[in-house]
Amino acid sequence: MSVKDDLEARSGSTCELCTATNNLEVFEVEPVSISGVDSSILACETCRTQIEDPEKMDANHWRCLNDSMWSEYDSVKVMAWRMLSRLKSEGWPKDLLDMMYLEPEVLNWAKATGEGLAESEKIIHRDVNGVILQNGDSVVLVKDLKIKGSSQVAKQGTAVRRISLDRENAEYIEGKVGPTLTVIITKYVKKI
Ligand SMILES: [Zn+2]
Repeated sequence: MSVKDDLEARSGSTCELCTATNNLEVFEVEPVSISGVDSSILACETCRTQIEDPEKMDANHWRCLNDSMWSEYDSVKVMAWRMLSRLKSEGWPKDLLDMMYLEPEVLNWAKATGEGLAESEKIIHRDVNGVILQNGDSVVLVKDLKIKGSSQVAKQGTAVRRISLDRENAEYIEGKVGPTLTVIITKYVKKI
């Protein structure tokens, strides 16, 4: 079965945000390290268009989140949280957000795109060329790296797969160099 088949089965072929039944497609809830049902939702064109283009937001459409925020699926809850955060200046979305409870790792996922934060508050990780880094990306070292707490040096050109971002600090990512999980400075890596 494809991801779309699985999502149709899970949702009864309705938009998991607003329950519309037309123009449904798989929408991946970023950042996606493994694509699949757990990191996706089934969403209608109206929802997808507005998610992707904040300029096209119609706050009233999102009253639907009143129901979908209680979904049992984390990916749906994450999208509900993000859209409520985007709309919180309307008032009612803020009340709904206050009622929502997300497990800590789900909340981290919800916050990963910086939705609801002012541009200046967003923590955005960029590589040496200014390319935006996301959880799950692979990078190469552009400089020899001394591994903290060991005598090991990772050579320039070493690939580091499936990095994770430090949510507090835009200059740090974590990744495995050989068997060792280590902190790496973003300006010394290049996304591959
Ligand atoms: Zn929808």
